Amino acid sequence: MLSIIPHYTIIVCPNCGLVQYIIEGQKTRKCPNSKCKKTIDLRRVIVYGRTSDIQKAIVMVQKIKEKNHHLEKMKDIRPILDEEDDES
Ligand SMILES: [Zn+2]
Repeated sequence: MLSIIPHYTIIVCPNCGLVQYIIEGQKTRKCPNSKCKKTIDLRRVIVYGRTSDIQKAIVMVQKIKEKNHHLEKMKDIRPILDEEDDES
């Protein structure tokens, strides 16, 4: 029996750059960064990864944060997530 599994989408706040995961299906979200708190339009942000596994979502966020440390600007970091993307 199949049940509906929530999918998590990895996004980066376009305002402050905070990496975060959201449950798919939402249209907007308020950035959890207390210094930002901007409403993020989830249809207009770059999706960096998708997973149905909450643990994977956390790992992805962590990976992007680590990688982003060495980048001056947020670039296309999707290649570093390829190994996690085993669902598509
Ligand atoms: Zn933000």
